[in-house]
Amino acid sequence: MKTSRPIRARIAPAALLHNYRVVKRHAANARAWAVIKANAYGHGQWRAVDALREEADGFAILETENGVALREAGVSQPILLLEGIFSTRDARAVREYGLTTVIHCSEQLDMFLDAGPLAAPQEVYVKLNTGMNRLGFTDKTLPLALERLRAQENLKLTLMTHFAEADGERGIAWQLERFKAMSAGWTGGVCLANSAAILDFPETHGDWVRPGIVLYGASPFVDRSAADLGLQPVMTLESALIGVQELQAGERVGYGGTFTADKPMRIGIVACGYADGYPRHAPSGTPIAVLGQRTRTVGRVSMDMLACDITDIPDAGLGAPVTLWGKGIAGEVPADEVATAAGTIAYELFCALAPRVPTAVDGL
Ligand SMILES: *Cc1c(COP(=O)(O)O)cnc(C)c1O
Repeated sequence: MKTSRPIRARIAPAALLHNYRVVKRHAANARAWAVIKANAYGHGQWRAVDALREEADGFAILETENGVALREAGVSQPILLLEGIFSTRDARAVREYGLTTVIHCSEQLDMFLDAGPLAAPQEVYVKLNTGMNRLGFTDKTLPLALERLRAQENLKLTLMTHFAEADGERGIAWQLERFKAMSAGWTGGVCLANSAAILDFPETHGDWVRPGIVLYGASPFVDRSAADLGLQPVMTLESALIGVQELQAGERVGYGGTFTADKPMRIGIVACGYADGYPRHAPSGTPIAVLGQRTRTVGRVSMDMLACDITDIPDAGLGAPVTLWGKGIAGEVPADEVATAAGTIAYELFCALAPRVPTAVDGL
């Protein structure tokens, strides 16, 4: 819905393309699945597909129906189902629409084989559990799975795994070691790396990499900013001041009165709240930009509004532009910084963008 309420999300397809190219520079010898699950991390799946249609080596999603929709929209690249199939019906769609599916357990393998023999070449990613303990075959269950798969004609197999701590202290070596032990003698394809591993561990690049968050211009690391990594923000959440309050020292702001002015202050009220997807847990002090200047939020985030300190931005009056995160006319605020302040990660901020926020797409 077009509304005159000033909140907007703006999506920059050129930044998405730029970030994809950053990935390709890091993993020059690998192909890259553009991970566009969760509505392209809240950016809009079709916008992401439009931006990357010419260059993405493939697209990775979750739902089979979505894979079918992408095919019907003319996407000709490989399409990967990251959690694999959920039914034998899915297995038939995978065959019919030429989707690449993960198979991560023997029950899923049953579903896949129950759809009957393969009439055409089919790609399957066999997922190995190397320590994340979410999905995947173990060293005990893998041999039988591979034996059953190899009995099929027309099947091309790739081995994949997922890193639990590529962005953390423990790193990837321990999982890579298990992967190598489980795949000893393997000559087929290999697909391992998420965003963090792509940037930090070239030894994980293999044949295909799986970038997600970096495509959207946020950092997978706590200690390095997206700008440090050469990434550009894709989503900007912006709004405007719809109220200004002059406070005396000792007055409080918002629900629960969690912020108290320690001096006379000017407070700007922004048309953005948790029902727009702004994190309610963002405390006083969370960065925000008003009229080209960085400042901080004050008080509790409410459903439709939040407050910020504009004491030192005297020109900021009603209608002054505000950047909640991203790079807007009101200034730049990395989503990672907002996320950190709110005790979460940019992934969650992006995915939580509410449907009620109108979205505009910049020209490519
Ligand atoms: C979501 C996902 C990715 C992308 O992870 P990022 O940290 O966003 O790069 C890669 N692989 C799998 C299996 C995923 O589910």
